[in-house]
Amino acid sequence: MANPPEIVTTASEVRARVAGARSEGKSVGLVPTLGALHDGHLALMRRAREECGYVAISIFVNPTQFPAGEDFERYPRDLKADVAKAGSAGVDVVFAPEVEEMYPPGDSTFVEVTGPLVECLCGQHRPGHFRGVTTVCAKLFSIVGPDKAYFGEKDYQQLLVIKQMVRDLRLPVEIVAVPTVRDADGVATSSRNRYLSAEEREAARVLYRALSAAKAWVEAGERDAAVLVAGVSEMIEAEPLVRLQYAELRDGETLEELQMVGRKGVLAVAAFVGKARLIDNIVLTPGPR
Ligand code: AMP
Repeated sequence: MANPPEIVTTASEVRARVAGARSEGKSVGLVPTLGALHDGHLALMRRAREECGYVAISIFVNPTQFPAGEDFERYPRDLKADVAKAGSAGVDVVFAPEVEEMYPPGDSTFVEVTGPLVECLCGQHRPGHFRGVTTVCAKLFSIVGPDKAYFGEKDYQQLLVIKQMVRDLRLPVEIVAVPTVRDADGVATSSRNRYLSAEEREAARVLYRALSAAKAWVEAGERDAAVLVAGVSEMIEAEPLVRLQYAELRDGETLEELQMVGRKGVLAVAAFVGKARLIDNIVLTPGPR
């Protein structure tokens, strides 16, 4: 059994722990999370454990990344259970700050990626969301100073936005992408799955079913984005408990809209299932026929 991780709440405490690890010659990995940990988060932590001498995670329900009217207030919070799970993944320290620690009273600084990357998909439907994400991640990188930070491909656009920020600000951190973790029924693990009733959970399976169908169509020779997106949308819209917000095929690096599957593409979907807004995606490349 790994030792339980230490819980700290201030930036100076984290810095001291990381400085101690560095003085022992250890590299440092960081996994930023909103908490309500699940197997997707744990995959990031295990990867960090494999690659780094010292592993820090943050658990912080970041208010600035929740647009008005979203689920900030009712977002699941369960620090005790989270710390136990983090311990099982070999995490060394859990940074769980209060809002005032991350956003000191009177603060007026944001970090914002601009342009096409943040104007489409979730950026279009969740105004200010990515500005909140990049701001909090810039702060976390500044506080922890990790060699590597781990992000999930489930939040594909977020991963690209973070990479852009790191490139643009010349931050000395390597961003590591970790594949999407799914439950046995295909549903991507997500803290928001806790909002689903049994019937809604069953209905949510349609997202990955539709994405997998698109992959099979591509493997069978289909290249036309409009056909793929229409097929995916039709499957999802046939599920009465699911309300599709978007289904789009975009370039896997720039998120430019694609007419054809050619370069690496990503088919991304967002949908409401009951009270939960769920996202998922699949990477599509033509490959050999
Ligand atoms: P969150 O707590 O939802 O902000 O997620 C924290 C990190 O975990 C982000 O980098 C997410 O992309 C990643 N993550 C969340 N769900 C999954 C999943 N099912 N598979 C892989 N990574 C995930």
